[in-house]
Amino acid sequence: MASSEFELIATYFSGIGTARKDVHLGIGDDCALLQVPPGQLLAISMDTLVEEVHFLAGTDPELLGHKALAVNLSDLAATGAVPAWATLALTLPQSDPDWLAGFSRGFRRLAERYGVQLVGGDTTRGPLSVTVQVHGFVEADNALRRDGARPGDRIGVTGSLGGAALVLKIRNKEYSAMRLNTDLSRRMDQPQPRVEAGLVLSTLAHAAIDISDGLAADLGHICAQSGVGGRVALAELPLSDAVRGYVDATGDWSLPLEGGDDYELCFTAAPERCEAIEVGMRQAGCRLSWIGVVEQSPELRWIHPSGGALVGSAGGYDHFQAR
Ligand code: ADP
Ligand code: MG
Repeated sequence: MASSEFELIATYFSGIGTARKDVHLGIGDDCALLQVPPGQLLAISMDTLVEEVHFLAGTDPELLGHKALAVNLSDLAATGAVPAWATLALTLPQSDPDWLAGFSRGFRRLAERYGVQLVGGDTTRGPLSVTVQVHGFVEADNALRRDGARPGDRIGVTGSLGGAALVLKIRNKEYSAMRLNTDLSRRMDQPQPRVEAGLVLSTLAHAAIDISDGLAADLGHICAQSGVGGRVALAELPLSDAVRGYVDATGDWSLPLEGGDDYELCFTAAPERCEAIEVGMRQAGCRLSWIGVVEQSPELRWIHPSGGALVGSAGGYDHFQAR
């Protein structure tokens, strides 16, 4: 690596996030040396954002720094893990100080919020692409998996659904009856990982997933991997005023059902745990909605407010057919 690249790392990526005692050696050597708490499992996850695939050229680097870490923290949240460390592989067309400062600022702010330390990475030249790996800790018994749902569980979701997809629709000029404002844009540009909610769920829920591909697909993964099905009442889906306005105006439910990038959590829990989950979510300041129940038959049924049911396969949301 050229010395300018060492300088780049020292300037923009050293000392990012919280200085942690479990980091014996961080950035600057061949490997980072890290201590996992005895008796806990290491939860790891990685996501890549590629320019023109996952974000547009010219995207504010600060928002990108935030989002690259946020989507990874969302995976830890969906596992019920406590975030600890991150690594960052950056491919850059050139070394642009303003871009690097912005990116590093967005990444740092979110890392500090969750006590995460950046402990290593890789820097290369090429088309802009950002890969982050996060590492967290979880007790084996508390790890939330996609295959833990049981018939009779209630299905819950955090926050609200379809906001990010609505932003995309407005930006793509596919819907002109609504203007973008800061609150709405943040749903797409600055997703907030549900880390606190995931920790509440870790001791109380049976299964969880973060909603990156849309509720139908992601709940479909839980059902398929758990060998169950379920029914969801569309009337119970948590919608922001903006998304509700869109659904009311168009009758189109695809935003909350198929819209990706919300990074809310979808989970299932035994009915007797629901009250404790409600209390925990209230303490975590997280909106919670119960939207349906898990059933034995491997079919996902979506109950339309008008009373009709739409049936999707538990493997996903390939097709809906009116009953
Ligand atoms: P090596 O050649 O041994 O793989 P590098 O020269 O690529 O090491 O990196 C030097 C140090 O800087 C390593 O500790 C590596 O983890 C860290 N590093 C490189 N790029 C980044 C980055 N984008 N963010 C954080 N740390 C980085
Ligand atoms: Mg080396």
